Amino acid sequence: MNYRLTAILQRKDDMYVALCPELDIAGQGEIIEEAKSNLKEVITFFLECASESEMKYRLPDDIDISPIEVEYTDNEIMDILDEYEKQGGENMHCPRCDKPALCESQSDESDPTVIKVSFSCKGCSVSQNITIML
Ligand SMILES: [Zn+2]
Repeated sequence: MNYRLTAILQRKDDMYVALCPELDIAGQGEIIEEAKSNLKEVITFFLECASESEMKYRLPDDIDISPIEVEYTDNEIMDILDEYEKQGGENMHCPRCDKPALCESQSDESDPTVIKVSFSCKGCSVSQNITIML
């Protein structure tokens, strides 16, 4: 029997962990290839030893693995926005190193509810383009 399964490789400290999400089984190794082949061994062992009911439970045939996209605002942007609101932009100091930073805001002519802020600090080389919705 052949199964086509997924391996998710992740670096954890100085090791690689390979996870098979369909079976919820993991292997590890010092390099990616080692983690993958360890995972293969563990899965092979599992498939050879598992009972039929456990196989059915672990290997459902309606599994779908697809990439998803998520959006979030990182802390750096939140800090810049906080400072922007407090200091009004023009003489802004960098929230990270507190040195004077360059901050230009521009309103979007086609959409008056949008302000585009470009922020850059030479002190700690942070540069961000932020869109603010009013
Ligand atoms: Zn800075």
